[in-house]
Amino acid sequence: MDQDIIGWVEHWYRVHCNGDWEHGQGVKIETLDNPGWWVSIDLEGTDMSDKPFEPLEARRGENADDWMICRVQEGVSQGSGGPEKLGAILRVFKEWCDRFPGWDAPLSPEHVELVAARERIEAVRRALGREDGLEQCRETDCTHLRVAHSIFCIDHHIANLQRVGALPVLFTGCPSSGWRARAGRP
Ligand SMILES: [Zn+2]
Repeated sequence: MDQDIIGWVEHWYRVHCNGDWEHGQGVKIETLDNPGWWVSIDLEGTDMSDKPFEPLEARRGENADDWMICRVQEGVSQGSGGPEKLGAILRVFKEWCDRFPGWDAPLSPEHVELVAARERIEAVRRALGREDGLEQCRETDCTHLRVAHSIFCIDHHIANLQRVGALPVLFTGCPSSGWRARAGRP
């Protein structure tokens, strides 16, 4: 495999490490028992999180090792392929990123703020636990059960915190990315 693509992946990784991103996100390269390679690259918190990716599947008949599948699913770039496809998988990812110049620009303050806002909401969501209270959520027409420490279900508890300004509001622009959003008041 050419060293250039490894250097590029190192660069891609380094520009996204900001003291925060690397704790929850990252790059994994593993082997499969097919045999083959499996590469997953987390896109959340990167410029690529909302970019369209056309899934790719390549197979050549006679050689069982000559296959490759690349796709983006739930905010993760996933590539797999035969034993000699690791470089090719990484190059597909590089070529995709290269179509969107600016992926390696430092995250803007607004972008960083959005990541932080989303993490605050997720932390509250985790802390609320399960909707296994004995009564239904107090919000009109909501059929969910309440969580243990609120009269509301998870979503409505968070919505109420947002209403009073205790939590930021994310306006999601694109349902598939789920995070490309603006932090602000409703
Ligand atoms: Zn509810």
